[in-house]
Amino acid sequence: MKIRPGPLKSDPSANLLKRIRALMASEEGVQERLDHFVKLIASAMKVNVASIYLRSGNDLELCATKGLKQSAVHKTKLALGEGLVGRVAQRARLLNLANAPKHPNFAFKPETGEARFHSFLGVPLLRGGRNLGVLVVQSKRARSFTDAEVENLLTVAMILAEIAVEDERAGGRKAHLKGIHLTPTLPETIPGTAFADGLAKGWAYLHQPPVLAQQMIALDPRQEETRMERAITNLRQSVDAMVSGETAHLDRASKEIFESYRLFAYDRNWVERLREAVRAGLTSEAAVERVRNEHRARMLKARDPYLRARLHDLEDLANRMLRILGGESLDPGQRELPEEAIVFARNLGPAEILDYDRSRLKGIVLEEGAATAHATIICRTLGIALVGQAEGVLDRVEAGDMVLVDGEKGKAYIRPDQTLRSDFDLRIGIRRALSKAFEAQRDLQARTKDGKDIKLLLNAGLLVDLPALDTVGADGIGLFRTEFQFMVAESMPRLREQVELYKKAIDACGERPVTFRTLDLGGDKILPYADPVPEDNPAIGWRAIRIGLDRPAMLRYQIRALLIAGAGAHLRLMFPMVATVSEFIQAKAIMAKEIARAKKLGTPPPKKLEVGVMLETPALAWQVDAICKHADFVSVGANDLMQFFFAADRDNPRVANRYDGLHPAALSLLAFIAKRCKAHNVPVTVCGEMAGHPLEAICLIALGFPNLSMPVTGIGPVKSAVLSLDASKLHKMLTPLLSSDTDADSVRENVKAFCEQEGVPV
Ligand code: PEP
Ligand code: MG
Repeated sequence: MKIRPGPLKSDPSANLLKRIRALMASEEGVQERLDHFVKLIASAMKVNVASIYLRSGNDLELCATKGLKQSAVHKTKLALGEGLVGRVAQRARLLNLANAPKHPNFAFKPETGEARFHSFLGVPLLRGGRNLGVLVVQSKRARSFTDAEVENLLTVAMILAEIAVEDERAGGRKAHLKGIHLTPTLPETIPGTAFADGLAKGWAYLHQPPVLAQQMIALDPRQEETRMERAITNLRQSVDAMVSGETAHLDRASKEIFESYRLFAYDRNWVERLREAVRAGLTSEAAVERVRNEHRARMLKARDPYLRARLHDLEDLANRMLRILGGESLDPGQRELPEEAIVFARNLGPAEILDYDRSRLKGIVLEEGAATAHATIICRTLGIALVGQAEGVLDRVEAGDMVLVDGEKGKAYIRPDQTLRSDFDLRIGIRRALSKAFEAQRDLQARTKDGKDIKLLLNAGLLVDLPALDTVGADGIGLFRTEFQFMVAESMPRLREQVELYKKAIDACGERPVTFRTLDLGGDKILPYADPVPEDNPAIGWRAIRIGLDRPAMLRYQIRALLIAGAGAHLRLMFPMVATVSEFIQAKAIMAKEIARAKKLGTPPPKKLEVGVMLETPALAWQVDAICKHADFVSVGANDLMQFFFAADRDNPRVANRYDGLHPAALSLLAFIAKRCKAHNVPVTVCGEMAGHPLEAICLIALGFPNLSMPVTGIGPVKSAVLSLDASKLHKMLTPLLSSDTDADSVRENVKAFCEQEGVPV
């Protein structure tokens, strides 16, 4: 056989793609392109028929065909699930049949003349989570299509879906496919992280960040300078309005968040760089972007999440500038929003959230976002459900899609089906009923049925947390995480700022106690303005009191602030991450120096001063008798205690939930701590997440913990459980389960059964 020289025969699929690419680039209208498309496919795949069906509502409409009767185009319609095409669309799965008319789903459409064709290959047109239609090829000869052919058609379908969407976007301007409204169909569940609690149901609204600078070079540099000056003044005014309280729906605490904005807006350096860029000949928009890019480049070098969160505040400010330059109004609450809106964005700044009409904004879903971001704090304050870190969500959602935002579990459901919607409605109803019930019991003392009084305290850390004290009727603040103020600030908080915050917390509590924890930095808590110390295991590294003891300046400064704020008041403070009794003694010695200093300066002493310890290392549990001699109270940091007890990183999703806090071994340890503290008459509290879950909370009570400190969302449900709990009965039930020779992993099921029997709502 003679071998012909020259190029190998080209791969037909590559050839087809090449031709499709040319078609994509053409200026033709959409209908013409679809007509071309089917011809190309039919000839490249050597089939008798190639057809495109697009979804319009619940129907599939034949929009282009090569091989079927042309008169059927835009006439033949199939319901979803009807015929083979309807089946492909409904199940979003391809169908490859050698003898189509024999298939039970085959529906004969005489106007198309398709009865003559035997083999059938239909693939769904999918884009993101949307099912836009079906691409079909058919042949007279009865045969199954090969894997290569199927692959080919799938690739083509992907491109075709792109064209269909392009048409949709073009609206009626281009050669629009008459009457076709592509309907998103497939429900999608997007996993993310729950940043702000709440359940929201509404319609997707895609947040539009301001467009980037179109024109880089200013035509009239002098005029541009004036423009820039005006924009700067405008920006400052809008930020001032936010800080000074003209933003009606924002409480005072949240307004303080905007103090950091004001710092930026008035930052000479920032403003000067903007001016310089304009003087150099850039348009104002280009100048904003240049300065923003410089900032980004610098700040993104830092790897930690808090810095990223702060970076976003700056982005927010830059976006505001661009909007001002574009002539938009920046009055808070004025940004247009459809009713019941769920806003989707890559990220949002706190000011951007406030720009939206609060009465219409139900929930937010972000591709990014962070637990400590200002936007997160604002959402929590305003009760807007927020799910963040929902990767890829913007590729899957379309404006107007129905959405459920689950701020409890950290999920967004796009285009949910009826079952999901009903479940969600039920949960919303339960939440409403519960919050009404919690409200009704707000002023009740949390007393068990067998007469034990339990203190339900709040975990707090920022001004925004304080109003919750009264809303939920907490008995005080059991854990004030002072490091939060340091983490959300742009620079180290000054003495005055620290004093102010502590004083506000003391005032907000009134007669109720507030327990300040000294700085618990290091580990996952990193300051944006301090160089991070690289460590292999930061959670068990140089953190909390260890830093305080090695470099006492910052700790002393903080204790100074606490003493000033606590002058004449009841001051309670505690040290975190203590591993040995001697560390606690050293910390108290540092404190003594500050007390002596305050005395010398004539600062009035606190009315009562109590110094406690956080018990969050297993080592300290085995020194509990000794520590009780030195500490006025003990607070069990169950989050850390459990991570060290089980050697399971609390921030690593792979292991964080691997071990149950209700493991008999963990409960034995906790029971031991409670018992020893009681023996020494030292008040003991459990703070940390477990205290805020009703099931865990009642176990802690049964083990002998009379004080529980928890996130705000825990107080209502825990109080409900406490009110119907017989603690002695649960104690009796639990005790035999905690033996060290049990091989059970958890007592959870036993406690659940107990609750069911006893009617304890958990
Ligand atoms: C804890 O460890 O349980 C605790 C309350 O402290 P944090 O969560 O701030 O480490
Ligand atoms: Mg801790």
